[in-house]
Amino acid sequence: MGARNILVINCGSSSIKFALVNEQRDGFVIQGLAERIGLNDAEARLRWQCNGDKHARALPQADHKQALAAILPLAVEAAGGALHGIGHRVVHGGERFAQSTRITSETLDAIRAMAPLAPLHNPANLQGIEAALALFADLPQVAVFDTAFHQTLPEHAYRYALPEALYRDHGVRRYGFHGTSHQYVSVRAAQISGLAVDNSAWLTAHLGNGCSTCAIVNGQSQDTSMGLTPLEGVVMGTRSGDVDPGLAAHLARALGWSLDKIDAMLNRESGLLGLSGLSNDMRSLEQARADGHAGATLAIEVFCYRLAKSLAALSCALPQLDGLIFTGGIGENSALIRAKTVAHLRLLNLQLDEAANLACTGGAEGEIQRAPSARVLVVPTNEERQIALDTLALLEP
Ligand code: AMP
Repeated sequence: MGARNILVINCGSSSIKFALVNEQRDGFVIQGLAERIGLNDAEARLRWQCNGDKHARALPQADHKQALAAILPLAVEAAGGALHGIGHRVVHGGERFAQSTRITSETLDAIRAMAPLAPLHNPANLQGIEAALALFADLPQVAVFDTAFHQTLPEHAYRYALPEALYRDHGVRRYGFHGTSHQYVSVRAAQISGLAVDNSAWLTAHLGNGCSTCAIVNGQSQDTSMGLTPLEGVVMGTRSGDVDPGLAAHLARALGWSLDKIDAMLNRESGLLGLSGLSNDMRSLEQARADGHAGATLAIEVFCYRLAKSLAALSCALPQLDGLIFTGGIGENSALIRAKTVAHLRLLNLQLDEAANLACTGGAEGEIQRAPSARVLVVPTNEERQIALDTLALLEP
């Protein structure tokens, strides 16, 4: 059989991201984004890139099914007529899914049942799956969960110190997210370093608009910074990360804020944006800091200190440290953030080589530590490839 092609779909409430992965080719054969869909929006459109050429097409008033119906022929054509399966990103797999799984009616019911844990994401993911099933009934389809990689956390890492019934009856526990990214970069880091995945120990920092850290031992997640929801943990673009659990009650009592207002503030108005009063985008903040903006300077200091603190805390889960891995838009590009974070981690025997750190940007992969420090690596993430690899592993031989 020739090299197989997998279409990877990441379906949000008003967008669908897609990429076609060929198992023997680096990069994507075709990739694109349908935006403003499912909103009865005249401006809905599809943009894609194939062989370096950029294309766009209007999809007025398109819903998810219509957008997928436009995407499929493009993917089939780019695959030379041979599409072997579809991999769907699903945010929450709860305790039910410790691995990726072939999609059946049972799988769909389970994902639906998980919706209270991810009310914004799982219903949107389901819409994409249902539309894809209706359109491509004969193709094998696989669900790949953001949470599944973290199902190896030991109980002392995933339980909150809350009444047991909340866990038992309502699933209140730490789940973790960004699993495909943490898994992909840690496997790649082991390859780069000449180590066996099943005999290696890593700290990973996925730093994009959402940010999380993870401790990975012998290929298994042992602890991670995100919890029941993707709000827990380190500072993010617009999300606060950890705050005092008493904050919500305080704001309700002292200021009369509603739960919805508190939730929106913590998820959409906090993080880098809230601290800086300027932007959630790290590029803009670095520029503003260089121009002397006090808010941007503070946001960057808090971001790096909290990130280092999270990594140091996760080191409790490691028998040894083979390396710290930076990934995501910030981790892959910002020498400043990497330098400031590692400067807080001297006790982990981490030090950067300044020139190597500065040189590692724009999708480059490499080691950036100064000998004899423990390894520090920059590894571009590739969640689409990980989803395609999981999908390929579940196809009939
Ligand atoms: P992602 O969600 O992985 O696409 O990452 C988005 C974040 O990466 C945003 O905060 C961007 O500002 C940040 N980012 C992208 N390129 C750079 C860069 N060259 N320097 C600093 N931050 C960057």
